[in-house]
Amino acid sequence: MRAWIVESPGPVDSGPLRRVEKDEPEPGPGQVRVRVTCCGVCRTDLHLAEGDLPPRRPGMVPGHEVVGRVDATGPGATRFAVGDRVGVPWLGGTDGTCRYCRHGAENLCLAPVFTGWDVDGGYADACVVNEGFGYELPEVIGDEHAAPLLCAGIIGYRALLCAAVPTGGSLGIYGFGGSAHITAQVALHQGLRVHVLTRGAANRALAAELGADSVGDAADAPPEPLDGAILFAPAGELVPVALRALGRGGTLAVAGIWLSDIPTLKYEAELFEERKLRSVTANTRANGEDFLALAARFGLRTTTTAYPMSAAPEALADLAHGRFSGAAVLHN
Ligand SMILES: [Zn+2]
Ligand SMILES: [Zn+2]
Repeated sequence: MRAWIVESPGPVDSGPLRRVEKDEPEPGPGQVRVRVTCCGVCRTDLHLAEGDLPPRRPGMVPGHEVVGRVDATGPGATRFAVGDRVGVPWLGGTDGTCRYCRHGAENLCLAPVFTGWDVDGGYADACVVNEGFGYELPEVIGDEHAAPLLCAGIIGYRALLCAAVPTGGSLGIYGFGGSAHITAQVALHQGLRVHVLTRGAANRALAAELGADSVGDAADAPPEPLDGAILFAPAGELVPVALRALGRGGTLAVAGIWLSDIPTLKYEAELFEERKLRSVTANTRANGEDFLALAARFGLRTTTTAYPMSAAPEALADLAHGRFSGAAVLHN
Protein backbone atom coordinates (compact mmCIF):
# COMPACT_ATOMS: atom_id res chain seq x y z
CA MET A 1 0.00 0.00 0.00
CA ARG A 2 1.00 3.64 -0.30
CA ALA A 3 1.76 5.55 2.90
CA TRP A 4 3.34 8.83 3.91
CA ILE A 5 6.04 8.52 6.58
CA VAL A 6 7.87 11.10 8.65
CA GLU A 7 11.32 10.36 7.27
CA SER A 8 13.39 13.04 8.97
CA PRO A 9 11.59 15.56 11.17
CA GLY A 10 12.31 19.15 10.20
CA PRO A 11 10.75 22.38 8.96
CA VAL A 12 7.66 21.59 6.91
CA ASP A 13 9.03 23.43 3.88
CA SER A 14 12.12 21.16 3.90
CA GLY A 15 9.93 18.13 3.06
CA PRO A 16 9.96 15.93 6.16
CA LEU A 17 7.37 13.51 4.69
CA ARG A 18 8.09 10.86 2.10
CA ARG A 19 5.61 8.60 0.30
CA VAL A 20 6.60 4.94 0.40
CA GLU A 21 5.28 1.47 -0.40
CA LYS A 22 4.60 -0.59 2.72
CA ASP A 23 3.04 -3.95 3.41
CA GLU A 24 -0.65 -3.78 4.29
CA PRO A 25 -1.02 -4.00 8.07
CA GLU A 26 -2.66 -7.18 9.35
CA PRO A 27 -5.18 -6.73 12.16
CA GLY A 28 -4.04 -8.43 15.36
CA PRO A 29 -6.25 -9.82 18.13
CA GLY A 30 -9.12 -7.43 18.85
CA GLN A 31 -8.19 -5.18 15.96
CA VAL A 32 -9.78 -4.26 12.66
CA ARG A 33 -8.16 -2.99 9.49
CA VAL A 34 -9.65 0.17 8.06
CA ARG A 35 -9.55 1.04 4.36
CA VAL A 36 -8.95 4.80 4.62
CA THR A 37 -11.50 6.98 2.84
CA CYS A 38 -10.16 10.23 4.24
CA CYS A 39 -7.98 11.54 7.03
CA GLY A 40 -8.02 14.94 8.67
CA VAL A 41 -4.86 16.99 9.07
CA CYS A 42 -4.23 17.93 12.70
CA ARG A 43 -1.68 20.39 14.07
CA THR A 44 -0.17 17.46 15.97
CA ASP A 45 0.81 15.95 12.61
CA LEU A 46 2.70 19.17 11.92
CA HIS A 47 4.42 19.04 15.33
CA LEU A 48 5.49 15.45 14.58
CA ALA A 49 6.69 16.28 11.06
CA GLU A 50 8.68 19.26 12.32
CA GLY A 51 10.11 17.46 15.35
CA ASP A 52 8.44 19.59 18.06
CA LEU A 53 7.21 16.24 19.37
CA PRO A 54 9.95 13.59 19.39
CA PRO A 55 9.29 10.57 17.15
CA ARG A 56 8.27 7.48 19.13
CA ARG A 57 9.69 5.32 16.34
CA PRO A 58 11.27 6.02 12.97
CA GLY A 59 9.24 6.10 9.77
CA MET A 60 5.88 6.63 11.47
CA VAL A 61 2.79 7.13 9.33
CA PRO A 62 0.97 10.19 10.75
CA GLY A 63 -2.78 10.80 10.78
CA HIS A 64 -5.31 10.29 13.57
CA GLU A 65 -8.59 11.61 12.18
CA VAL A 66 -9.30 8.61 10.01
CA VAL A 67 -12.63 7.75 8.42
CA GLY A 68 -12.92 4.51 6.50
CA ARG A 69 -14.52 1.10 6.17
CA VAL A 70 -13.51 -2.08 7.89
CA ASP A 71 -12.03 -4.50 5.37
CA ALA A 72 -10.58 -7.16 7.67
CA THR A 73 -11.09 -8.24 11.27
CA GLY A 74 -8.50 -9.78 13.57
CA PRO A 75 -8.96 -12.76 15.89
CA GLY A 76 -11.70 -12.11 18.45
CA ALA A 77 -12.74 -8.76 16.97
CA THR A 78 -16.53 -8.70 16.96
CA ARG A 79 -17.58 -5.06 17.42
CA PHE A 80 -17.37 -4.09 13.75
CA ALA A 81 -18.12 -6.14 10.64
CA VAL A 82 -16.41 -5.94 7.27
CA GLY A 83 -17.94 -2.96 5.45
CA ASP A 84 -18.81 -0.97 8.58
CA ARG A 85 -17.88 2.69 8.68
CA VAL A 86 -15.49 3.49 11.50
CA GLY A 87 -13.54 6.46 12.85
CA VAL A 88 -9.97 6.07 14.10
CA PRO A 89 -8.96 8.72 16.65
CA TRP A 90 -5.81 9.91 18.45
CA LEU A 91 -6.34 7.70 21.53
CA GLY A 92 -5.73 4.27 20.04
CA GLY A 93 -5.15 2.25 23.19
CA THR A 94 -4.56 2.24 26.94
CA ASP A 95 -3.34 -0.41 29.37
CA GLY A 96 -6.64 -0.37 31.26
CA THR A 97 -4.81 -1.20 34.48
CA CYS A 98 -2.78 1.82 35.60
CA ARG A 99 -4.02 4.02 38.44
CA TYR A 100 -5.41 6.59 35.99
CA CYS A 101 -7.32 4.06 33.90
CA ARG A 102 -8.72 2.49 37.07
CA HIS A 103 -10.09 5.86 38.17
CA GLY A 104 -11.81 6.85 34.93
CA ALA A 105 -9.01 9.06 33.65
CA GLU A 106 -7.79 6.95 30.75
CA ASN A 107 -6.71 10.13 28.96
CA LEU A 108 -3.81 10.18 31.46
CA CYS A 109 -2.89 6.50 31.01
CA LEU A 110 0.75 5.72 31.79
CA ALA A 111 1.07 3.46 28.74
CA PRO A 112 -1.16 4.98 26.06
CA VAL A 113 -1.06 4.17 22.35
CA PHE A 114 -1.53 7.21 20.14
CA THR A 115 -2.49 6.76 16.51
CA GLY A 116 0.06 8.26 14.16
CA TRP A 117 2.70 8.55 16.93
CA ASP A 118 3.04 5.09 18.58
CA VAL A 119 1.36 3.15 15.76
CA ASP A 120 0.90 3.96 12.08
CA GLY A 121 -1.97 6.27 11.27
CA GLY A 122 -4.16 7.27 8.37
CA TYR A 123 -1.92 9.07 5.83
CA ALA A 124 -2.08 5.76 3.96
CA ASP A 125 -4.36 3.40 2.09
CA ALA A 126 -5.14 1.45 5.29
CA CYS A 127 -4.41 1.30 9.00
CA VAL A 128 -5.41 -0.89 11.93
CA VAL A 129 -7.15 0.10 15.16
CA ASN A 130 -8.00 -1.64 18.41
CA GLU A 131 -11.73 -2.08 17.94
CA GLY A 132 -12.56 -0.76 21.40
CA PHE A 133 -10.98 2.58 20.50
CA GLY A 134 -12.68 3.09 17.13
CA TYR A 135 -15.89 5.11 16.88
CA GLU A 136 -19.15 4.47 15.14
CA LEU A 137 -19.82 7.70 13.26
CA PRO A 138 -23.19 9.47 13.01
CA GLU A 139 -24.81 8.67 9.68
CA VAL A 140 -25.91 12.26 9.19
CA ILE A 141 -22.29 13.41 8.95
CA GLY A 142 -20.43 12.59 5.73
CA ASP A 143 -16.86 11.29 5.64
CA GLU A 144 -15.07 14.56 4.95
CA HIS A 145 -16.98 16.43 7.65
CA ALA A 146 -16.62 13.59 10.15
CA ALA A 147 -12.81 13.37 9.91
CA PRO A 148 -11.99 16.58 11.84
CA LEU A 149 -14.38 15.55 14.62
CA LEU A 150 -12.08 12.69 15.60
CA CYS A 151 -9.36 14.83 17.16
CA ALA A 152 -10.06 18.52 16.63
CA GLY A 153 -13.67 17.99 17.66
CA ILE A 154 -13.26 15.57 20.56
CA ILE A 155 -10.30 17.33 22.17
CA GLY A 156 -11.93 20.73 21.68
CA TYR A 157 -14.99 19.32 23.44
CA ARG A 158 -12.86 18.15 26.36
CA ALA A 159 -11.17 21.58 26.44
CA LEU A 160 -14.60 23.18 26.67
CA LEU A 161 -15.45 20.94 29.64
CA CYS A 162 -12.10 21.86 31.22
CA ALA A 163 -12.78 25.60 30.79
CA ALA A 164 -15.74 25.05 33.16
CA VAL A 165 -17.91 27.93 31.97
CA PRO A 166 -21.13 28.15 34.00
CA THR A 167 -24.51 28.03 32.25
CA GLY A 168 -25.12 31.26 30.35
CA GLY A 169 -21.52 32.40 30.86
CA SER A 170 -18.84 33.79 28.59
CA LEU A 171 -16.12 31.82 26.81
CA GLY A 172 -13.00 33.23 25.17
CA ILE A 173 -11.41 31.32 22.30
CA TYR A 174 -7.79 32.18 21.45
CA GLY A 175 -6.77 30.94 18.00
CA PHE A 176 -9.38 29.83 15.51
CA GLY A 177 -8.40 26.80 13.45
CA GLY A 178 -9.84 23.31 12.99
CA SER A 179 -10.54 22.56 16.65
CA ALA A 180 -11.73 26.04 17.64
CA HIS A 181 -14.26 26.39 14.83
CA ILE A 182 -15.92 23.17 16.01
CA THR A 183 -15.74 24.00 19.71
CA ALA A 184 -17.26 27.44 19.14
CA GLN A 185 -20.32 25.82 17.57
CA VAL A 186 -20.75 23.51 20.57
CA ALA A 187 -20.42 26.42 23.00
CA LEU A 188 -22.92 28.54 21.08
CA HIS A 189 -25.30 25.58 20.96
CA GLN A 190 -25.00 25.37 24.76
CA GLY A 191 -26.04 29.01 25.05
CA LEU A 192 -22.65 30.45 26.01
CA ARG A 193 -21.49 33.86 24.80
CA VAL A 194 -18.44 33.22 22.65
CA HIS A 195 -15.66 35.77 22.11
CA VAL A 196 -13.08 34.78 19.50
CA LEU A 197 -9.64 36.39 19.68
CA THR A 198 -7.41 35.38 16.82
CA ARG A 199 -5.05 36.56 14.13
CA GLY A 200 -5.99 36.19 10.46
CA ALA A 201 -8.84 37.96 8.71
CA ALA A 202 -10.20 34.71 7.22
CA ASN A 203 -10.35 33.07 10.66
CA ARG A 204 -12.13 36.09 12.12
CA ALA A 205 -14.60 36.05 9.22
CA LEU A 206 -15.36 32.35 9.83
CA ALA A 207 -15.88 33.02 13.55
CA ALA A 208 -18.34 35.81 12.77
CA GLU A 209 -20.15 33.64 10.22
CA LEU A 210 -20.57 30.87 12.82
CA GLY A 211 -22.24 33.32 15.17
CA ALA A 212 -19.53 34.39 17.63
CA ASP A 213 -20.73 37.22 19.88
CA SER A 214 -17.54 39.18 19.27
CA VAL A 215 -14.43 38.75 17.18
CA GLY A 216 -11.11 40.49 17.72
CA ASP A 217 -7.38 40.19 17.33
CA ALA A 218 -5.49 37.81 19.64
CA ALA A 219 -4.14 40.64 21.79
CA ASP A 220 -7.45 42.53 22.07
CA ALA A 221 -9.40 42.64 25.32
CA PRO A 222 -12.78 40.89 25.03
CA PRO A 223 -15.89 43.03 25.62
CA GLU A 224 -16.59 41.40 29.00
CA PRO A 225 -14.64 39.39 31.60
CA LEU A 226 -14.40 35.74 30.55
CA ASP A 227 -15.78 32.97 32.76
CA GLY A 228 -13.53 30.56 30.92
CA ALA A 229 -11.17 30.52 27.98
CA ILE A 230 -9.49 28.00 25.71
CA LEU A 231 -6.08 28.59 24.16
CA PHE A 232 -5.95 26.74 20.84
CA ALA A 233 -3.03 28.67 19.32
CA PRO A 234 0.30 27.00 20.20
CA ALA A 235 1.56 30.34 21.46
CA GLY A 236 2.71 30.53 25.09
CA GLU A 237 2.87 34.33 24.92
CA LEU A 238 -0.94 34.35 24.81
CA VAL A 239 -1.24 32.66 28.23
CA PRO A 240 -0.82 35.90 30.24
CA VAL A 241 -3.02 37.73 27.72
CA ALA A 242 -5.83 35.23 28.20
CA LEU A 243 -5.39 35.04 32.00
CA ARG A 244 -5.77 38.85 32.22
CA ALA A 245 -9.03 38.57 30.24
CA LEU A 246 -10.54 36.13 32.77
CA GLY A 247 -12.96 37.24 35.42
CA ARG A 248 -12.47 36.14 39.03
CA GLY A 249 -12.38 32.37 39.39
CA GLY A 250 -12.13 31.85 35.62
CA THR A 251 -10.24 28.98 34.02
CA LEU A 252 -7.89 29.05 31.06
CA ALA A 253 -7.58 25.62 29.42
CA VAL A 254 -4.64 25.06 27.06
CA ALA A 255 -5.90 22.66 24.41
CA GLY A 256 -2.76 21.90 22.41
CA ILE A 257 -0.30 19.04 22.82
CA TRP A 258 2.57 21.49 22.34
CA LEU A 259 2.98 25.10 23.42
CA SER A 260 5.85 27.54 23.04
CA ASP A 261 7.30 28.74 26.35
CA ILE A 262 5.05 30.75 28.65
CA PRO A 263 6.49 34.10 29.77
CA THR A 264 6.84 34.88 33.47
CA LEU A 265 3.39 35.33 35.01
CA LYS A 266 2.44 38.27 37.23
CA TYR A 267 0.65 36.83 40.21
CA GLU A 268 -1.69 39.70 41.06
CA ALA A 269 -2.93 40.51 37.55
CA GLU A 270 -2.89 37.02 36.07
CA LEU A 271 -3.53 34.38 38.75
CA PHE A 272 -4.82 35.94 41.98
CA GLU A 273 -8.58 35.90 42.63
CA GLU A 274 -8.56 32.20 41.88
CA ARG A 275 -7.88 32.38 38.18
CA LYS A 276 -6.82 28.92 37.05
CA LEU A 277 -4.44 27.73 34.33
CA ARG A 278 -4.69 24.11 33.23
CA SER A 279 -3.77 21.86 30.34
CA VAL A 280 -5.89 19.38 28.40
CA THR A 281 -4.41 15.96 27.71
CA ALA A 282 -6.04 13.74 25.07
CA ASN A 283 -9.54 12.54 25.94
CA THR A 284 -11.47 9.63 27.34
CA ARG A 285 -13.58 7.46 25.08
CA ALA A 286 -16.63 8.73 26.94
CA ASN A 287 -15.71 12.29 25.91
CA GLY A 288 -15.60 11.08 22.30
CA GLU A 289 -18.94 9.25 22.44
CA ASP A 290 -20.64 12.22 24.14
CA PHE A 291 -19.24 14.70 21.63
CA LEU A 292 -20.15 12.68 18.52
CA ALA A 293 -23.72 12.20 19.76
CA LEU A 294 -24.00 15.93 20.47
CA ALA A 295 -22.56 16.87 17.07
CA ALA A 296 -25.13 14.68 15.32
CA ARG A 297 -28.00 16.06 17.42
CA PHE A 298 -27.50 19.72 16.68
CA GLY A 299 -26.16 19.48 13.14
CA LEU A 300 -22.58 20.61 13.67
CA ARG A 301 -20.87 21.54 10.40
CA THR A 302 -17.14 21.47 9.89
CA THR A 303 -15.56 23.86 7.41
CA THR A 304 -13.11 21.76 5.42
CA THR A 305 -10.59 22.05 2.60
CA ALA A 306 -10.11 18.82 0.63
CA TYR A 307 -6.74 17.62 -0.67
CA PRO A 308 -5.86 14.39 -2.46
CA MET A 309 -3.80 12.03 -0.27
CA SER A 310 -0.93 12.63 -2.71
CA ALA A 311 -0.85 16.27 -1.53
CA ALA A 312 -0.32 15.58 2.19
CA PRO A 313 2.88 17.71 2.33
CA GLU A 314 1.07 20.66 0.73
CA ALA A 315 -1.80 20.32 3.21
CA LEU A 316 0.63 20.35 6.16
CA ALA A 317 2.48 23.35 4.72
CA ASP A 318 -0.79 25.21 4.17
CA LEU A 319 -1.71 24.49 7.82
CA ALA A 320 1.67 25.78 8.99
CA HIS A 321 1.29 28.97 6.98
CA GLY A 322 -2.39 29.55 7.79
CA ARG A 323 -3.53 29.28 4.19
CA PHE A 324 -6.97 27.84 4.92
CA SER A 325 -9.64 28.30 7.56
CA GLY A 326 -11.25 25.35 9.32
CA ALA A 327 -9.71 21.92 8.77
CA ALA A 328 -7.86 20.17 5.92
CA VAL A 329 -8.91 16.65 4.95
CA LEU A 330 -6.90 14.22 2.79
CA HIS A 331 -8.84 11.93 0.44
CA ASN A 332 -7.85 8.59 -1.03
ZN1 LIG B 1 -3.69 3.22 31.93
ZN1 LIG C 1 -4.97 15.76 16.64
